[in-house]
Amino acid sequence: MVLECKHVWDYISGYLDGGLDPELLREVQKHLDHCEVCSAVLDSTRNILVLTADERTFTLPLGFSERLHERLERAFADGLQTET
Ligand SMILES: [Zn+2]
Repeated sequence: MVLECKHVWDYISGYLDGGLDPELLREVQKHLDHCEVCSAVLDSTRNILVLTADERTFTLPLGFSERLHERLERAFADGLQTET
């Protein structure tokens, strides 16, 4: 199974809250190891979660995935621009 960046982004919130299958988790990690764009996306996503997450419960705010998607699209566009 080969993951593309867009697939990884779909999994990032699950990756961060531990909701992924172990096998999928491994694939995502493998991708993150060699993909700077997705690593950056993971970092900024983690920052959002740290800011918004309660100390004990890990609840995503309403509209999170929508905003995450916008952010990811932007990050991906930025990544493409720096590469070319
Ligand atoms: Zn990637």
